[in-house]
Amino acid sequence: MLGNKCEKCQAEFFPPVNICRACKSIDLKPLEMPGAGKILSYTLQKESVAGFEEQEPMVFGLVELSNGVRLVAQIVDFPYESLKIGSKVKAVFRRVKADGPSGQIYYGYKFGPPRSPRETSATEE
Ligand SMILES: [Zn+2]
Repeated sequence: MLGNKCEKCQAEFFPPVNICRACKSIDLKPLEMPGAGKILSYTLQKESVAGFEEQEPMVFGLVELSNGVRLVAQIVDFPYESLKIGSKVKAVFRRVKADGPSGQIYYGYKFGPPRSPRETSATEE
């Protein structure tokens, strides 16, 4: 997850911005975002838009990364009943969507529990 950082005031952004929202500087450098964060808020979306029916119901969370940057992302592998405000999560690379007959598959980031059930060895805190 590549964001960027203002060289003038050190503010960090994801997704990357062209102009610093804090000081309006255009002196920004790419910066890899930390993969770990926590849930600030979340919601269960029972009906989704076309193309995502197979993933219903979907959970979306407002995630605050460990550097303070906030973003909205799909939450996966986390039983909805056990999800809480403050739950720790980490970024995972997952299939976002398969595009019908063409078969093109899109990938992107989502967030899951700190120790993903798909991993055999977890090294997170
Ligand atoms: Zn700045």
